[in-house]
Amino acid sequence: MKIESMAVGPIMTNCYLLCDEENKVCAVIDPGEEGDRVAQWVEKSGCALQYILLTHGHYDHFTGVAALLRHYPDTPVYIHPNDAVESASSPWSLKFPRLGEKNQRWYGEGDELTLGALTIRVMETPGHSAGSVCLVVGDVIFAGDTLFWGSCGRTDFPDGDYRAILLSLARLGRMEGNYRVYPGHDRATDLDSERKGNPYMRHGLTMA
Ligand SMILES: [Zn+2]
Repeated sequence: MKIESMAVGPIMTNCYLLCDEENKVCAVIDPGEEGDRVAQWVEKSGCALQYILLTHGHYDHFTGVAALLRHYPDTPVYIHPNDAVESASSPWSLKFPRLGEKNQRWYGEGDELTLGALTIRVMETPGHSAGSVCLVVGDVIFAGDTLFWGSCGRTDFPDGDYRAILLSLARLGRMEGNYRVYPGHDRATDLDSERKGNPYMRHGLTMA
């Protein structure tokens, strides 16, 4: 498993390229606002793009999907249905405008996607948005805007929920063992450090 990250767009969203190098397949997680640049990056990796995966439906994570699909038109795009709408209300949408049948796929709690020899497991972690998910692959969590280094995603958007994100953080905190954490913004971290130093996760862990 090889993971590369690239900060994309004006608010520096972390886009990740997850590769199974042996089988030469990859997935893009949150192409942000720079689909063309992400497409070049995929091409350079030498891996075939198998999935585009969204951690949630905020524009800074998904706007690049359209351009990326122009380069890779048959790629399935996964998101939790709670974060999608029929059509976009503005370019800065906080919901993902659903795609046509050819590309649109949905995922939710417990779903598993196979990427070569890798298994990507979906955990629903609402709070930052109603359809936020974390993607667990081996000892890595792609946390979207649920868990940040020492912090967590904001919950003041229309379907944000502060209590829900605390409970989602607690769920992550209760996972067995340590995991490397790749968040939607800012630097990577690991679960043990967050269990010790993240006040939101610590608060969540004291709740039911
Ligand atoms: Zn967000």
